[in-house]
Amino acid sequence: MLKKTIALTLLVLSACGHASAGGERPKPTRADRIEKSDEAWKEALSAEEYRILRQAGTERAFTGKYWDDHAPGVYVCAGCGLELFSSTDKFDSGTGWPSFSKPMASDRVDEHSDVSYGMVRTEVACARCGGHLGHVFPDGPRPTGLRYCINGNVLDKQPLPEAKPKP
Ligand code: FE
Repeated sequence: MLKKTIALTLLVLSACGHASAGGERPKPTRADRIEKSDEAWKEALSAEEYRILRQAGTERAFTGKYWDDHAPGVYVCAGCGLELFSSTDKFDSGTGWPSFSKPMASDRVDEHSDVSYGMVRTEVACARCGGHLGHVFPDGPRPTGLRYCINGNVLDKQPLPEAKPKP
């Protein structure tokens, strides 16, 4: 019984930990981290991608890519191609932005506190290129309870790994 209580407490703590305002998780370390000058990013990205990824912009709800997309696939970072989210974790949040209950792996995104616009939110950024993706909120579906609210215009879609044709 005690074991069960401890396990449940840990589960609750871990589920809330990285979505809470002050609770920053240690940054995942990626050997393949990409650093580019602002000029290089401007050249590499479309104006919309640059505005969101490099200037923490937000697309208008119901106007971007993938918010109403339900086909299987992997959503990769438009800045660096890192596989970020899977269609298997996508859900219809009704917000007009593509929403996921978790990233494909914990080392795919960095999360940190964002206090801009008078709100306390947790920003989600690509762990390889540092590009701004969106925010994560603690009001998602079970079992994670999280809602990764992501700008679709900085995602590209690829087939799920098992659906890729054999070489
Ligand atoms: Fe990236």
